[in-house]
Amino acid sequence: MSETGFRIDPLTGAHVVVTPWRQHRPVHPDGMCPFCPGGLEAPGAYDVLHIPNRWPSLANGRHEVILHGPDHDSSFPRLGEDRSARVVELWSARTSVLGSREDVSYVFIFENRGRVIGTTIDHPHSQIMAFSEIPPIPKSELSKSNCGLCKDIDGELIVTRQPGWQVSVPWAPSWPYEMLISPCAHVADLPTAGQSLRAGLGGILVDSLTRLERLFGGGAPYQLWVHPGPAGGGGWAAAHPQVPLTPGSRAASARRVGRCRRLLRSGGSTGGGSTTEILTRNGTSVMAGGAGAIAIATVIDGQDAAGRHRHRQSFGVKGDVRGVAADRQFRAVGTITINR
Ligand SMILES: [Zn+2]
Ligand SMILES: [Zn+2]
Repeated sequence: MSETGFRIDPLTGAHVVVTPWRQHRPVHPDGMCPFCPGGLEAPGAYDVLHIPNRWPSLANGRHEVILHGPDHDSSFPRLGEDRSARVVELWSARTSVLGSREDVSYVFIFENRGRVIGTTIDHPHSQIMAFSEIPPIPKSELSKSNCGLCKDIDGELIVTRQPGWQVSVPWAPSWPYEMLISPCAHVADLPTAGQSLRAGLGGILVDSLTRLERLFGGGAPYQLWVHPGPAGGGGWAAAHPQVPLTPGSRAASARRVGRCRRLLRSGGSTGGGSTTEILTRNGTSVMAGGAGAIAIATVIDGQDAAGRHRHRQSFGVKGDVRGVAADRQFRAVGTITINR
């Protein structure tokens, strides 16, 4: 890779782009939002708009911002299917334009939603980065000889299906409540998918994010990564667009509850030894955590003489997002005690 500021961590081999100039970008600027029509970055009226990122991570115009609409308080669920489809169209168009550049091998789109995620401007927007080389994770996926997304997915892992698209829970998720959106049939990339299929992505984004809002409340933070496919098609048998979607930390939903008495971090006797977080409010807690146990619901049974809370805990490794989205109860599997 030859990115400005590109370095390789000598301990882990991780690829890192160091961008000290981004430290000076404004955080939640006072006054008029720069992305609202008439603002610094969007002086005229617009429906959807792409602009250069004023604080780019990649040089030479390879880091853009996509404004999802003129309404500052909007979101994909509020935009609805048709207007969300226009955002997808612009993602695809910019993927084509940037992907055709000689200095670009991979285009990547992401949306960080919510201040807890680190978003510096609340106005609904996503970002497009055009890398000179295919980053390691997509490269390892693309290097496979068969498409890993064209296998039949266990029905228990399917969250929802719409024409052309499906949402599933990854078999080995990295995050609680993680979902993966992908076309049901093989297609190499978003630009060649056709307008009708791309419109379906707008629809299923609305569906998926509505499910998250049902679970975590309106405006719930999340991260969305769009892998539109490698630039130029390039004969990658495993190229299949995918959109991993993961909600923000559990702390964010905890904060919105308002009546929380404390937030306890535990070293994690559950979830395969991973860290768990417990929100306690009015004797009831909701816990989600652990890469091994995707979703956990916890009810405090009471408090013993030593001041320890007893927790009745339920968790499901499969079908958690389906269950939560449908307000289905979790299966109770045991009782644990966590010291205060
Ligand atoms: Zn705005
Ligand atoms: Zn495929």
